[in-house]
Amino acid sequence: MQVKRIHEYKRQLLNVLHVIHLYNCIKKGDADRVPRCVLIGGKAAPGYRMAKKTIKLINNVAQVINSDPEVGDKLTLLFLPDYRVSAMEKICPGADLSEQISTAGKEASGTGNMKLMMNGAITIGTLDGANIEIREEVGDENFFLFGLTEEQIEARRAHYDPLEMIDQDEDLQRVMHLLESGYFNQFEPGIFDDLINSIKSPHDPWMTIADFRSFVDAQKRVEDAYRDKDHWTKMSILNCANSGKFSTDRTIGEYNRDIWKLEPQPVKGE
Ligand SMILES: *Cc1c(COP(=O)(O)O)cnc(C)c1O
Repeated sequence: MQVKRIHEYKRQLLNVLHVIHLYNCIKKGDADRVPRCVLIGGKAAPGYRMAKKTIKLINNVAQVINSDPEVGDKLTLLFLPDYRVSAMEKICPGADLSEQISTAGKEASGTGNMKLMMNGAITIGTLDGANIEIREEVGDENFFLFGLTEEQIEARRAHYDPLEMIDQDEDLQRVMHLLESGYFNQFEPGIFDDLINSIKSPHDPWMTIADFRSFVDAQKRVEDAYRDKDHWTKMSILNCANSGKFSTDRTIGEYNRDIWKLEPQPVKGE
């Protein structure tokens, strides 16, 4: 489950690359995968072309995968339109896996990550924003960590070479080949070129390609954990039970102590 505003730093594209990788695994006859439904939802700002294109890509990839008889119910991709609080009220309790996969150093905090944890979803995430505190609270064994740290991201920028990384990784090569061959836009040639070029650029600020291998490996660990239902259930309960730190009372109390320094006032009429 990845529901949040569509933004390049939140890396919905990394999620799509993984879905295409799973599709390739199924097409290769790689049996014994855990069936998945990947749901991505969120709003794009009206003038944000790359975000609108990302929604278009999710829908196009979904159409190909969901109508491929070889895939069947092994893999489903869905884009949920009109993401809003009333949708989140239903999504949260229905989610198994919370995807919090932003580029390290870019997410101020996040609150979707907390809402999903509180409702028993397990997080796959980078060391970014409140994911760091969620992992501290729940313990590393109940959190699927992946990706470069903020320090590693900044160190890598000077010599980031995504083309070399694609060249070194057969799975990523296959994913990029499908995308670039127009497999998901057969009647709309070139429409995803700007998205594809953005992740292949050595100046990509979000370094999506840099975290692909680590993300795919972490998703494999998710699959292995999901097969053991008692283990997964225990992890889920521990996520819910350790979410107390993220209460509004604690947060607002701390803000008041450190920043606002206000006195509590009695409520009139009580
Ligand atoms: C929680 C929530 C957000 C914030 O999600 P993040 O994952 O923290 O970015 C945005 N929109 C809606 C409707 C929400 O419920």
